[in-house]
Amino acid sequence: MKRLGVLGWPVAHSRSPAMHSAALAAVGLADWSYQRLPVPPELFEQTARALPGAGFRGANVTIPHKEAALALADSASAAARAIGAANTLSFASDGTIAAENTDAPGLIAAMERPPVGVARSPQGLSALVLGAGGSARAAVWALREAGAREVSIWNRTAARAADLARVLGARAVARPEAADILVNCTSVGLTAPALPPQAAQLAADAPPLAADAPRLATDGQDGTEALNQLGLTLDLVGRYSYVVDLVYREGVTPLLLAARAQGVPTLDGLDVLVAQGALSFELWTGRRAPLQVMRDAARAAPEG
Ligand code: NAP
Repeated sequence: MKRLGVLGWPVAHSRSPAMHSAALAAVGLADWSYQRLPVPPELFEQTARALPGAGFRGANVTIPHKEAALALADSASAAARAIGAANTLSFASDGTIAAENTDAPGLIAAMERPPVGVARSPQGLSALVLGAGGSARAAVWALREAGAREVSIWNRTAARAADLARVLGARAVARPEAADILVNCTSVGLTAPALPPQAAQLAADAPPLAADAPRLATDGQDGTEALNQLGLTLDLVGRYSYVVDLVYREGVTPLLLAARAQGVPTLDGLDVLVAQGALSFELWTGRRAPLQVMRDAARAAPEG
């Protein structure tokens, strides 16, 4: 049996096992398996080093281990080194560990080749990234690598935005400004109460609404509060020409709902998750990832 898994703490919420198990079955890799690997930080290094000997070919890495994964690897891609974090480890037969970051190319792949909706290359465009944590770091690097004309960063804690901007050659802003592309890399919207059914129908698959369409939950307190936490207003959301929300959850996030209500094309965080997972899958197996199978499995997986 060739084994794969996802290392995290906690990791019960991860949709990767459902997504990768479905992909392995779909391409006929019956002797491969993918499992959850809940590992606390103090046990991460010794566990990761033991995986090749236990039959593992690779592992995804999620919060809080991405920096530690890069640090323990014997080799690392230029992307992982520049971002300072790895979300994918590959184990060679001699036990050596290679680190990769597929979060960054996954974001760009999802933008340029979305399964549904509007494609948008960052090449030559301006982008505003909200947040200054791990996913923001990967997003800023990815957007710059993909040829964005200018990348700005806004974060609730301004000093973190300034630090990230300095390291990655971006521009920190005191409040969200208009740009071509907006990418939410904060966790805002993750725990907002479930939106009413008519709002959830406006998920990423739906065509953009006309500008005068009813605004549904964004006019209510829940959606407005999430926008406020991001320093946004409904009108400002309408000034972007493409809105990406890395947050994924059942139904549509308040930010994507606001964008759709303003007629702005959107990209759902689940499609970004699938794109990074597909790149990891191809790295480990050498097989083309069955994107639609992975997307369906990730969407159907129960929320943690
Ligand atoms: P992280 O490193 O913990 O960073 C969290 C960020 O959110 C920080 O910038 C933090 O600002 C900000 N934040 C948290 N609560 C906030 C609030 N109430 N108001 C304003 N800002 C707030 O997390 P991460 O790893 O970057 O992940 C962020 C989100 O992206 C998570 O929901 C995660 O699930 C999602 N994600 C999705 C994918 C995907 O493939 N779709 C990949 C990675 C992550 P401060 O600095 O001020 O605390």
